[in-house]
Amino acid sequence: METSQPRIQAKLCQRCILPETFPGINFDENGICNYCRREESTMANDHAKKAEYRQRLDELMTEMKDQAPTYDAITAYSGGKDSSYTLKLLKERYELRILALTFDNHFVSPKSWENIKKVTDRLQIDHISFRPSWPMVKSLFAKTAQEDIFPAPTLLRASSICTACIGLVKSLVLKTALEMSIPLVAFGWSPGQAPIQSAIMKTNPAMIRQNQSALKRAFPSEISTQLDTYFIPATYYEMYNKSFPYNIHPLAFFNYDEQNIERELHVLGWQAPTDTDTNSTNCLLNAFANQCHLQRHGFHPYVWEIANMVRQGVMNRDEGIKKIYPEQNQKMVEYAKERLEL
Ligand SMILES: [Zn+2]
Repeated sequence: METSQPRIQAKLCQRCILPETFPGINFDENGICNYCRREESTMANDHAKKAEYRQRLDELMTEMKDQAPTYDAITAYSGGKDSSYTLKLLKERYELRILALTFDNHFVSPKSWENIKKVTDRLQIDHISFRPSWPMVKSLFAKTAQEDIFPAPTLLRASSICTACIGLVKSLVLKTALEMSIPLVAFGWSPGQAPIQSAIMKTNPAMIRQNQSALKRAFPSEISTQLDTYFIPATYYEMYNKSFPYNIHPLAFFNYDEQNIERELHVLGWQAPTDTDTNSTNCLLNAFANQCHLQRHGFHPYVWEIANMVRQGVMNRDEGIKKIYPEQNQKMVEYAKERLEL
């Protein structure tokens, strides 16, 4: 092993980098984990599946483009590389009328704001940002930094802090889509974050209602009452019953190569931020969120996502290890702690 490699204390799957501390894991005699063995059968037709989904999206876009009164699509836009690339893809491949929405969680890095402006201007995409008031955000993040308020399965995939933040993002973009009659909601989930099976899906009001109440219930009551305006109002399910949008996350089925994505984004003026950690290209809270999760659970909250990408071959094993196993940047951890007064 090279000296530049991070020091790893746990035993890792020889294929996907999941550690022995990951819940429910076991290894075979070759050091391959049960998650890898389970995936083997479904990976075989991965290539055909991606082609099938690309065609489905092409057809859907042909059908939907220019039908809505205002925008064809709304995109949850963090300014990070994945959502930037999603914007580029949708704009250049389909020439959609897109509205980009940034959830300003008060930890969007300055470099990210520059990227957001550059990318949306270059692609001629309208942009709005939504900034909840600081006292609410602060209590939300302080709570989730100290406590796991979500069910165990969600914590295999993301930290409590990220889950809270992303729950609000999803809710807000859907709410905006309904209010503005936008038929398509796009996310920049990486191929490791969300499976291809859910990459093109019409949202179902009954299911959304269920997800929303589960999310609401997870928050302590003093916080959830403050969050009411971010959730879908009960009347919307009836009022907009026929116009629930499609959710898409195209990066699950287009070629995903980090270096290539960054190269293409550079052309638009996007620059990899130097002010964030190894897993996030936009958020200044992420290193702290990772550290809280690591301390409570003994595994990195991004390891599930990165292991998926290594398994799928969209990232190599060494790159994955370099993303997951270095120490968290302590300056960034301290910065977040100080702002949250923890
Ligand atoms: Zn594995």
